[in-house]
Formats: sequence, structure tokens, C-alpha cells
Amino acid sequence: MSKESANQIQDLQFFGEYGGINPSITDSSTFTFMSARSMEELFEIEREGCYLYSRHTNPMNAYLGQALASLEGTEAAHVAGSGMGSISSVILQLCNSGDEIVAARTIYGGTYAFFKNFLPKFNIKVNFVDITNLEKVETAINQNTKMIYCEGISNPLLEIANIPELSKISRAKNLKLVVDNTFSPFVLKPKELGADIVIHSLTKFINGSSDTLGGVVCASKEFISQMIDVNSGAAMLLGPVMDGLRAASILKNIHTLHLRMKKHSENAMFIAKKLEESGVRVVYPGLESHRSYGLISELHQKEYGYSGLLTIDAENHERANTLMELMQEENIGYLAVSLGFYKTLFSSPGSSTSSEIPEDEQAEMGLSSGLVRMSIGLDEDIERTWQRMQKCLRAVGLMK
Ligand code: PLP
Repeated sequence: MSKESANQIQDLQFFGEYGGINPSITDSSTFTFMSARSMEELFEIEREGCYLYSRHTNPMNAYLGQALASLEGTEAAHVAGSGMGSISSVILQLCNSGDEIVAARTIYGGTYAFFKNFLPKFNIKVNFVDITNLEKVETAINQNTKMIYCEGISNPLLEIANIPELSKISRAKNLKLVVDNTFSPFVLKPKELGADIVIHSLTKFINGSSDTLGGVVCASKEFISQMIDVNSGAAMLLGPVMDGLRAASILKNIHTLHLRMKKHSENAMFIAKKLEESGVRVVYPGLESHRSYGLISELHQKEYGYSGLLTIDAENHERANTLMELMQEENIGYLAVSLGFYKTLFSSPGSSTSSEIPEDEQAEMGLSSGLVRMSIGLDEDIERTWQRMQKCLRAVGLMK
């Protein structure tokens, strides 16, 4: 089962013009028709392989969408110019004025800000809950709720969503379960576990080279068609399109994603164990000390491990900053937001990617000001990296 997605990606066979082994990039925003009637027909009924205008679909984005649908085991997928482009389109496609969403309270700060500050303009209300508490999730649902929204492994606290149980709740109440799987491609298969819609920021692990933004919605053919409907589709009408040139480069990187995820996970597990043995407060889903170790061990695809993200608690903001500066000086990686890059990236979420969340709410959800999130890179010699990291941890007094 777990090799199925990798096999499907392996089996993609796209011939380019002149027999190129990569599909030819279609560098056109619009497409010609040999008869006016056939153009009119395409406005009425979509036909596979026929293109009208690139905001609707274009060949390169369709190839990339096919690869991502294979990754997540869905019928179809729609790519966008950023993860937020995909998230906002899904929400505005599914929710109307007066509707409500039950969402995990620990989610990416941009999504949180969109839910909290932007959706009220459309009279859409979001009830934030501790997604690991299924009773709280059920209590938050009312007759206006349309969707349960969560991240498979959450940003930045690395909480684990019990997707099968959330799916039971959402099916019983006729809701949609939407899962952002950005932190765990290959590691979690949300669709198989019961999600209706799976979203990714392609900016992270999937592309893996931090040279572009991108997003995807993986779902049924019916939902993807609704999103690009010329009259009422959120993706079509809001227009968060990915450029075809970028789609071509991301498509090539997907073919190494299975190898990269294994290496990110292996290296993160190594560092997490060393940190724990050294008495540093570390959170990593692959450690038995993680609150949901049992759950993720049941849910994940074993050969891909527990993904590449871990957090350490540097206890206060200043120490977190000094540690990150030192780690950059030691060339362990970069002090930068984002994740899933081939080099290690680290940032302090309380003052960066989660700064949209008010301080009192950060405290309530356990997001300490000294939290350092690390996305562990693809280092061949991870022991050497650990030697460098120890030096930094000792210098700030987190290790003896
Ligand atoms: N979802 C998660 C879990 C993220 O971490 C991010 C960005 O950090 C996003 C969505 C947004 O993606 P993008 O920056 O590509 O818009």
C-alpha cells in the first residue's frame, strides 16, 4: 500500500514535443481554436486535453496536478501559485455567508490569520479547538458547520490529527474533512485515512529547493471541476494561478520526493534522539515521548518515517535567537522561515510564522516564546551536523 503513490509517480509517462523525456512547457496564456463553434462548446462542457485560458487550466499545471493526485491517491488535483492560494480557494468554494468551520487551533499562522481576520468579512465564522480532543471537536459542531479543518502534523507544535476519527465525526454530520498535509507528504496519506480534501503548500517538501511558492488541492474530480468552473469556481475567479514554467520545475522535483522524505525523516530522528539523550526539551513525532507517538505510529507510512520537523524549547526568546544565530554561523543551516529545504532551516515561530496568533493565545496553546522549529536537511553526514549543533547548544547553556 505504502509504495503505491511512489509507483504511480514512477509510472507517469509524459512525452514532450519532439520526443522530449519531460513534457514540453506550454508558454501560452491562451489557446487557439480552429472553429468558433468548438470554442463555444468548451465554455459549455469541459473536455480533457482541450485548453481555453491558463487561469482555468493549462497543460503544464495539468501534468503537475496529475502527479500530485497520484501522490495523495485522489481522482484529481488543482495547483495554485501558493499554499495560501489553495487554502483560501477551498474555503471560499465550500463556505457561504453564515457558514462555520471547526478548525485546529494550532495551524500555520497565515491560515490562522485568514480564518480569524479575513473570513469574518464574508460572515464565515471559525471555531478554533484543540484538534486532539475529539469531544471538543464534536461539541464545536453546530447546524451551520460545513467543514473540519486541520493539519496532519501541525505547524509549529507538531500535534497529530486523528484523521480516521475526525473523518467518522465529519461523515456522521455530513461535513467535509480538509487536511493540510504540507508537513508530511508520503508520511501521511490523509485521503486513505478518511479526509475528503488534501491541501499542500508545494513551497515546502514537495518542491524541496525553496526556489518557488506553490499550492495544491487534491480531491474528487467533481470538487476540482467546481473550483475551476468559469462562472462560480473560487480558483477560476480568485485567480491564484501557478505559472507553467514553475509547474514544470516542480514536476521534476516530485520524482525525488520519496527519497528526500526518507532522508529528512532519518536525519530528524537522529538529531531528535541525540537532543533527548542530552536533556534538551525536544518535540518530534518519532520519539516515544511525543504525546501522540502511538497514534502517528499507527497512521504513518512506516518507510517514510516521521518527517523532518522537530522543535526544541530554548526557554526564552533571547536564547532562541542566540542559538539560531550561532547555528547559522556554524553552517548547520539557515535562519529562515519555511521548511522542507535540502539544508536545515530554523526559525522561532512565536515571533515569525505564528506571530499572527496573539501572545495570550500562543501561551494557551503551549507555543512558548523560546520555541525553535527546525526543518532538518538532507545532510549526508548527520553525525558531523550533531557535533556542530552540540557546540551551539553548549554555548547558550542548553547542554552541559
Ligand atoms: N500550510 C502550512 C502547514 C504551511 O506551513 C504554510 C507556509 O508556511 C502554508 C500552508 C502556506 O503556504 P505558502 O507559503 O506556499 O502560501
